[in-house]
Amino acid sequence: MAKKECGCGGGLCQWWEAAFEFFERNATTLDRKALAGALAAVIRFGPGKNSRVPLIVGSTNAAKSTVLNAIIDVFGFSNIVHRPGEKASMALANLMQEHKRFIYWDEYRPVEFAARGTVPVTQFLSLFSAGAMEVTLSQSFNNGNGECRWRRGAAMTSKEEGLWDPVPAMLGLMPVTNEDIRHMKTRVRQFPAKVAVDGDLAEVPQCGESLCRWLLADAAAFAKGDPEKPLRRLKGKALPPLPDLDGQPAGAKSPNVVSKRQLTAAEKVLIEEKRAAALRRKTEKEMADQAAMQPDEGDAFNAPSDEDVFNHGHLGFSDDGEHAGPDPTEDSEGGWFV
Ligand SMILES: [Zn+2]
Repeated sequence: MAKKECGCGGGLCQWWEAAFEFFERNATTLDRKALAGALAAVIRFGPGKNSRVPLIVGSTNAAKSTVLNAIIDVFGFSNIVHRPGEKASMALANLMQEHKRFIYWDEYRPVEFAARGTVPVTQFLSLFSAGAMEVTLSQSFNNGNGECRWRRGAAMTSKEEGLWDPVPAMLGLMPVTNEDIRHMKTRVRQFPAKVAVDGDLAEVPQCGESLCRWLLADAAAFAKGDPEKPLRRLKGKALPPLPDLDGQPAGAKSPNVVSKRQLTAAEKVLIEEKRAAALRRKTEKEMADQAAMQPDEGDAFNAPSDEDVFNHGHLGFSDDGEHAGPDPTEDSEGGWFV
């Protein structure tokens, strides 16, 4: 569809003109590439942790529906799940229709609809996280209930004012708490559009072809730049060493047993520790011997080539260049190396 030309003709698109101006006006709060990326992701994967539902939040006259209205042309009016009536009794029944391709709720107010019971908080949360949910249908279908899991695209626009204000328990309304609202907000990704249109509002055509081309261009640019963080991949971490196994029956303590089978990670850690301790003792002993043989302690300290700035003694090589340090492959404590 992105390759086709829209009905505006002459290679000039009025929808794109309006959309472009909308993006320019709101450039400080709304990243058009991020919006394209979010929209492309939710169309591809359905609503989820890494593809939250884009929600354009704007003030009155911000023309916040300009961009998304062209979605209707992309999927076709009858294939869109439109915003339910505020007091609809079976608001989500349309989701069950196979041919529905996209949820576009223009001027939707999640908290108000939840308070009226049209789309309760729990349904909103399930619907926009690909969770399974019961949908009330007319009595002629499935005894009036159907199970639904929405895996297709969705987007919304909302007026900013009072959008996320909680609703107290009142006659005829379900309370919507701050906690509810915090959860609902995790299902959407908000794109603020605060600047009102300067001058007269224009009639804007819904050019699906042009929207698709914008999505392709900007979503691709977005994917290279700053995608939503993918889930962290765990590398795995060494387990803590086993406690001292003294007094245990046959186990890591016995070199004979160890050598006959594969070592566990914990046993390897234990062996490393024992080995390091053995090397430390050996080095300390050798240094003590060396110090005893050295007639003048000051020599080592004053020698310019000697980088032992802390005067802790010299590891590895003795003054005559002979290798005197511990040999790491040497079996220093009877069988710890396997
Ligand atoms: Zn056009």
